[in-house]
Amino acid sequence: MHIVINIFQMKRIAIIFFAILLTCASQAQTRKRSSSVPKQRTIEEMPRVAIDTVTTADPETKVIIYSNNSWEFYHPAIKERLADLDVYKYNWDTTQIFAYKNIELTDLPELIELRLIDSLVQYCAPATGRVSSKYGIRRRRNHNGTDLSLPLGVPFHATFDGKVRYAKWNSGGYGYLTIIRHPNGLESWYAHQSKLNVKPGDYVKAGQIIGFCGNSGRSRGNHLHFELRYKDQSFDSEFLIDFETGQLRYQTFVLDKKYFNIRSRASEILEEDDYDADLPESLLADADETTIENVQSAPKPKPAQATTGAIYHTIVKGDNLGKIAIKYGVPIDQICSLNGINRSTTLALKRKLLIKK
Ligand SMILES: [Zn+2]
Repeated sequence: MHIVINIFQMKRIAIIFFAILLTCASQAQTRKRSSSVPKQRTIEEMPRVAIDTVTTADPETKVIIYSNNSWEFYHPAIKERLADLDVYKYNWDTTQIFAYKNIELTDLPELIELRLIDSLVQYCAPATGRVSSKYGIRRRRNHNGTDLSLPLGVPFHATFDGKVRYAKWNSGGYGYLTIIRHPNGLESWYAHQSKLNVKPGDYVKAGQIIGFCGNSGRSRGNHLHFELRYKDQSFDSEFLIDFETGQLRYQTFVLDKKYFNIRSRASEILEEDDYDADLPESLLADADETTIENVQSAPKPKPAQATTGAIYHTIVKGDNLGKIAIKYGVPIDQICSLNGINRSTTLALKRKLLIKK
């Protein structure tokens, strides 16, 4: 009990630290992209020297700050506890790619709130590059992942901290495949590797090299086929990751059950000015690829708010900040700061929130 309370206290500090670090990291990323540096160094490759230690409310726990802008908690017990969570005990199958055969899509809730990063779990882009094939229907077959065109041998990184569930040859077409399960239940899949670099049961930190780009399995050309799955169900990883910049779009992501539909592509929702202008379900259900393309290319009506500049949202039943953030494609923190509220503020019905100025 004692340690649980301390972890909660630590999280407050951690959120502030993380916000600062995220800002630094994104600025660094922008600088790197504008100059012509041929190869980005990962956080792992950069010199990592402890430059400061900050105490926390828990006398045993300290925050270590490193010279490469990374930081971590130091507590002798935390590391063991993280590798030993229940999520790594149940439905844990190191021999097969699907581990939740007892759970159907219909068993999952309508909305699943996934905390992606916090004081104990961090993020690193699996790889950055041009998306050569998106999630969705490709040549009338389901494409359950995002393809990044990359040269042979480029290392892939663990996207979040987690435990390797599967790392071996897959004869079903994935070639050399690694699956990492993360503490929130999410799994990240890395396929067509030329070489594996981890084994089942390994506890990995975000950014750790877990394998290398290749052309193994049913693949034409070297690339990373990256999937995100929750309880075996796939959704478009571009909802979470901008693969060109490597940035994570959210700290907390509300996974809507409809995203498990192979036609729910991030690019068609994140770039939508008005989320409510989604295609009707009935149309999606019967439409073939051509029909959808035609509908998508039709001119979009301008949202009414565009003329005033500011966008407001009126709270309706069932709303929460995560859901609203996804609806408008803005960070939760932005909504909080624009409205002087915090993540735990109760949202009264009919309250108007300023979303964008
Ligand atoms: Zn693919």
